[in-house]
Amino acid sequence: MSFTKIGVVGAGTMGNGITQAFAVSGFKVVMMDVAEAAVQRGLATLAGSLERLVKKEKLTAAQKDEALSRVTTTTDAAALADCDLVIEAATENLALKLKIFEQLDGLLKEEAIIATNTSSISVTKLAASVRRSDRVIGMHFFNPVPMMALVELIRGLQTSDATYAAVEAATKALGKTPVQVRNSPGFVVNRMLCPMINEAIFALGEGLASAAEIDEAMKLGCNHPIGPLALCDMIGLDVQLAVMQVLFEGFKDPKYRPAPLLVEMVEAGYLGRKTGKGFFEYQ
Ligand code: NAD
Repeated sequence: MSFTKIGVVGAGTMGNGITQAFAVSGFKVVMMDVAEAAVQRGLATLAGSLERLVKKEKLTAAQKDEALSRVTTTTDAAALADCDLVIEAATENLALKLKIFEQLDGLLKEEAIIATNTSSISVTKLAASVRRSDRVIGMHFFNPVPMMALVELIRGLQTSDATYAAVEAATKALGKTPVQVRNSPGFVVNRMLCPMINEAIFALGEGLASAAEIDEAMKLGCNHPIGPLALCDMIGLDVQLAVMQVLFEGFKDPKYRPAPLLVEMVEAGYLGRKTGKGFFEYQ
């Protein structure tokens, strides 16, 4: 099965990035959000991002206009009815996602596939909530979507080979690289990345070295482009804590316990770049 029309539910950080990736690659996209203001914000971000690509000469002005002409927006889920693939990229909340899945299952055509961009919710659990369980898959994009090459394709227990193959082909059509992952807490990247950041926070809490020294050591010693603590400030300390909690609860293994300093900083409201203060200070 190949896709012509894509639906994206949620016009936030990930939703507008996913919309952009598909539109630039020649797909028609319907981007949906609950409120017109959210849709317009998403569309403005998308247009600004395409404009920057034109300035960097990665896209021509004509290609930008063509990409924009392939995007339609809506606040009415019914406008997604004739989509071949719908990617759910709404707020990370199980009850909300279950509601969206139920709605999509009722209105999409029989053969359409529902993908979710969730970072932490079980794809198997979401798939179990709909009749088309074999046509549900995780498509875990990375932020910022237009720049990041990886998409983790998460197979729930029910995901069929045909669903996987169709979504894998679409991922490649975006110029991105799919990695096949079994449904499991944190998938691959967050399962490895977040415990590494957590360990850096334990080290800082124990006074092993200063934040700047820990980051310098990992940059120079491991050739990482950014230190773990600066990266955590970018991700958001609240998001890092949420991922550690998902790993800790999911595996019931103490090796995933969140660092006490991380918990305390989140309590203090030091969430990283978005609040101006995390392990480092920002203007
Ligand atoms: P966000 O808050 O930027 O955007 C979420 C959007 O969903 C908002 O615009 C909100 O209005 C909309 N929404 C809420 N309920 C809706 C509904 N019923 N129908 C349609 N839209 C609805 O969040 P985000 O960072 O884009 O995250 C979206 C999803 O992507 C989450 O599942 C998150 O775990 C996942 N994710 C995020 C990142 C990241 O770095 N931000 C990376 C990978 C995956």
